[in-house]
Amino acid sequence: MKIIFTAIDIVYNWARSNSLWPLTFATSCCGIEMISASAASYDIARFGAEVFRASPRQADLIITAGTITHKMAPALVQLYEQMPEPKYVIAMGACCITGGMYENDSYSVVRGVDRLIPVDVYLPGCPPRPEALLDAIIKLQKKMKTESLLERKQYLEAHKPRVILSEDRDCEILLPNPDFEVIHWGVQTIGYDKDYKKAEVNCV
Ligand code: SF4
Repeated sequence: MKIIFTAIDIVYNWARSNSLWPLTFATSCCGIEMISASAASYDIARFGAEVFRASPRQADLIITAGTITHKMAPALVQLYEQMPEPKYVIAMGACCITGGMYENDSYSVVRGVDRLIPVDVYLPGCPPRPEALLDAIIKLQKKMKTESLLERKQYLEAHKPRVILSEDRDCEILLPNPDFEVIHWGVQTIGYDKDYKKAEVNCV
């Protein structure tokens, strides 16, 4: 059985990794670099990933290019949830990976998109150049080629959004790490404590 699945894995992974369909998603300056990667000079089509989709239902890769704010977080998670399995995430740029220059003082920026959705490849830089994005896609392709259908259950578990919703749908609570931070979505943050570890917020 394992021999049969290994043979299927090779063909299945080869086909998927060479025909990535990224979602059209960019929030700020890193998005310009992502757009450049699909232009003639860099030609992302060489890696089979040039068909940027307008609908998450037709995409299997989301490149989170740019700053992610708390207000934007529910929309991003919803887009991710609407993408069919198997799906992948490239976190592009310092703002997206850690909050970047907004890490210490901003009241509105999420300190890392991996608090919302699982990230497969981190692409640091401010901004990362288009060549770096192509390198991230190659790394993702290599990762995809090591996956197995037999390990699908563990894969699905690892690719769930890292989000807990409160029972009150009007006041959703994000608990990426219960020891670290509590954030209410779509609201104004009043402030952080002295260690920048806890946000006090007003629900709208
Ligand atoms: S990492 Fe730099 S280029 Fe990218 S969104 Fe942040 S400020 Fe803009």
